[in-house]
Amino acid sequence: MTPPSITLNNGITMPALGFGVFQTPPEQTVDAVTTALDVGYRHIDTAAAYLNERQVGEAIARSDVDRDDVFLETKVWITDYGYDKTLHAFDKSIGKLGVDRLDMLILHQALPGEFDLTIGAYKALEKLLADGKVRSIGVSNFMPDHLTRLMNETSIVPAVNQIEVHPYFRQSDLLAADAEHGILSQAWSPIGGITFYRNGSHGSTLEDPVIGDIARAHGKSAAQVMLRWHLQQGRQAIPKSVTPSRIAENFDIFDFELTAEELAAIDALDTGVRGGPEPEVITRETFGLDIPEA
Ligand code: NAP
Repeated sequence: MTPPSITLNNGITMPALGFGVFQTPPEQTVDAVTTALDVGYRHIDTAAAYLNERQVGEAIARSDVDRDDVFLETKVWITDYGYDKTLHAFDKSIGKLGVDRLDMLILHQALPGEFDLTIGAYKALEKLLADGKVRSIGVSNFMPDHLTRLMNETSIVPAVNQIEVHPYFRQSDLLAADAEHGILSQAWSPIGGITFYRNGSHGSTLEDPVIGDIARAHGKSAAQVMLRWHLQQGRQAIPKSVTPSRIAENFDIFDFELTAEELAAIDALDTGVRGGPEPEVITRETFGLDIPEA
């Protein structure tokens, strides 16, 4: 089964459903990505900061799937921001991934307190795009004012903004800002992975009774319902799993459709409470991580 594709604002298409590897330990990454490629995923989302790019590349190289048929996305970490450092970050990433070109390279976070470095990093992405080394460029965790500041000082509108979106944290203003600029919203923690670590009453989206009822009505799982919710609302989603049965389950979402009422019922679960770090407080001091050379 080939997943449906989405056309980006630069005319390039990418699969509507991808596979994430955040918190996938390097020693489990080859198996997870191999399973995902076998199941039919054709988009892998990694990041320099996940420290598993080498294993993602190994799985792609070993696979029977053609490199050209895989949409490969990675992210530059904040300690590599600034024009020259970001150009070098690209070399580090492709060296580890074992490829000569990326389908998508994005900035992992804005650095609100050092926005000049963020701009320099994005200008490096524009250069890599112009040189044909990456097919598309984008951002992650950019809030509306970060997008505005970026677009005031650079030329290429990001193709994607990869952001936390799940039923308990929908970010409707940010989704609207992305849409207004023609930027595809890519949902991270799409089945609420980040909420699993919460204590108290917040619980997990996987155990939400409203989602559970909808899942039962369709003979599907809660995870499948959440992924369908993203797709039907025009978002790209990148669920992560190291469990083969879940990797397959999360891909088996193309044979049912949620009603407008069901979509609205899931929208209504939004708590407005973020699970990930607040984008405005990201600094190199608090989130510093040295990205090793290839
Ligand atoms: P997620 O995909 O919403 O959830 C992953 C968690 O759900 C894992 O604990 C996984 O467990 C479990 N799981 C997966 N499928 C399941 C199923 N069908 N039933 C029950 N449990 C299931 O959350 P995420 O990993 O935070 O986000 C997904 C991807 O988004 C990441 O891998 C990464 O690529 C990207 N991301 C980006 C950012 C960013 O700042 N740009 C931040 C976070 C994530 P097992 O693995 O044990 O099966």
